[in-house]
Amino acid sequence: MGKADGFLTVRRATDQLESTRQRIRHFHEFTRPLSLPQWQDQGARCMNCGIPFCHSGCPLGNLIPDFNDAVYRGQWQKASELLHQTNNFPEFTGRLCPAPCEEACVLNISEQPVAIENIEKTVADQAREHGWHKPVRGSVRTGKKVAIVGSGPAGLAAAEQLNSVGHDVTVFEKAAKPGGLLRYGIPDFKLEKQLIDKRVMLMEAAGVKFECGFEVGQKISAIDLQQAFDAVVLCAGASQKRELDVVGRRAAGVMQAMDYLCHNNQVLSGEVDLKSSHCAKDKKVIVIGGGDTGSDCVGTALRQGASSVLNFEIMPKPPAERSVAEPWPFWPMRLRTSSSHQEGGERHWSLATQSFVSDAKGRLTGLVTVEVEWCKDQGTLAPVMLPDTQKEWSCDLVLLAMGFSGADQKLAKSFGCELSARQLFMAGDSDYRLNDHGLFASGDCRRGQSLIVWAISEGRELAYQVDCYLMGHSHLPRKGQGDLPGPA
Ligand SMILES: Cc1cc2nc3c(=O)[nH]c(=O)nc-3n(C[C@H](O)[C@H](O)[C@H](O)COP(=O)(O)OP(=O)(O)OC[C@H]3O[C@@H](n4cnc5c(N)ncnc54)[C@H](O)[C@@H]3O)c2cc1C
Ligand code: SF4
Repeated sequence: MGKADGFLTVRRATDQLESTRQRIRHFHEFTRPLSLPQWQDQGARCMNCGIPFCHSGCPLGNLIPDFNDAVYRGQWQKASELLHQTNNFPEFTGRLCPAPCEEACVLNISEQPVAIENIEKTVADQAREHGWHKPVRGSVRTGKKVAIVGSGPAGLAAAEQLNSVGHDVTVFEKAAKPGGLLRYGIPDFKLEKQLIDKRVMLMEAAGVKFECGFEVGQKISAIDLQQAFDAVVLCAGASQKRELDVVGRRAAGVMQAMDYLCHNNQVLSGEVDLKSSHCAKDKKVIVIGGGDTGSDCVGTALRQGASSVLNFEIMPKPPAERSVAEPWPFWPMRLRTSSSHQEGGERHWSLATQSFVSDAKGRLTGLVTVEVEWCKDQGTLAPVMLPDTQKEWSCDLVLLAMGFSGADQKLAKSFGCELSARQLFMAGDSDYRLNDHGLFASGDCRRGQSLIVWAISEGRELAYQVDCYLMGHSHLPRKGQGDLPGPA
């Protein structure tokens, strides 16, 4: 802690944002970074607490007070080295993480927390601009071969870690390009895809092989894969989309949010041409689901020129502030307004969709909702429909953003794995093993729909376990702290 009174004399600041009017005209990132001296001031706000609760909030155990101090001193390369000790991809988390570390920051008790996430992004961007990231290739090769199925953040983190200790890693990805939901779910205005390309190039230069357009279970059987490799790691995501089985679901104009977002990401990268069915221009759009996916649909539809956007959520509106039931340093369920929600559209809570309405040609014209109240039924909360609250809303496009219901059953079957009641791979919480013969799983396919920071954390932890399985021991770093229950 270089500046003893930084937290008293400097106010929190973060990147400036383009005006909402300007930024919905394009799909690029829209932040205007502060200057480096301004970031040094932000680093000075960190109090280097005796017990840094920020550590416990971070699923990666990032060395937050240490890199804040390096930033304060203008030691950007040192800050980058500290950051990369615990996080393979800070340029992703620095842009996309909901920042449980900031909720847990001691300054957050009585003041605005240290701008940890934005500092992380700035450090990562400095590192990229100055070429401080070098390909990390273990100098001693072990001759052991590892197959990783899926190239989302869990698969990428596992691949980088395992390659760094000398194993020969091949990542199999069924999509055309690597990145998982980073590339095909999250829109460019939150994460421009050249950041993923840059990482993949570094990993390739370090010796990781990528086989894209290669679906495991189709192009190669699970048995052949296990025979060809010493260990097989499943990081295949939780790809089963939750459905809304109500009257009229098959109307033309009702689609899964992921089909919509994925198509639009492919359009932006030039992989496909825009289909009119997947374009919101001049349409009245309703997004069902108030999470990250729903918010990304709102931002995308506004950029495509939707005439109106409504966002429905079945849960009640959360409180604006943390409730007494969730005291600091815990992650609070409070109202969060994403940058997309700031851009436009209207949010409605406690609404359940009962049916879709279509015209004689089967084209969507509206949907019917009912208001719900959440009541305890045998200890668990359940929605109760309120009488006389039915309402029909006119719309031309409905996007179903209600989350994911689990991992790919076909893939599980091909590896002879039974899924849990939540339809997830049942690898252990600490050993990530699916069996004793070198089959492992991590990321969303194991823990359920979650966050990038958790996927990276699981990928790293899994790598340690795979290395132990292959070598009998491992020098790979383990997770630091990150033991507060945080966002899923
Ligand atoms: C729209 C959207 C927005 C989100 N926004 C955020 C956000 O802002 N912040 C945040 O922290 N989290 C966000 N998330 C969640 C985050 O993206 C996920 O938690 C994370 O990507 C999970 O990583 P993963 O590696 O486990 O799986 P994924 O990213 O899902 O990657 C799995 C990969 O496995 C591949 N695969 C599957 N089966 C096979 C097979 N048989 N053969 C070969 N490859 C296969 C898939 O094609 C995919 O590329 C968002 C999610 C969505 C859907
Ligand atoms: S809790 Fe906040 S103030 Fe304390 S060390 Fe962490 S970032 Fe700095």
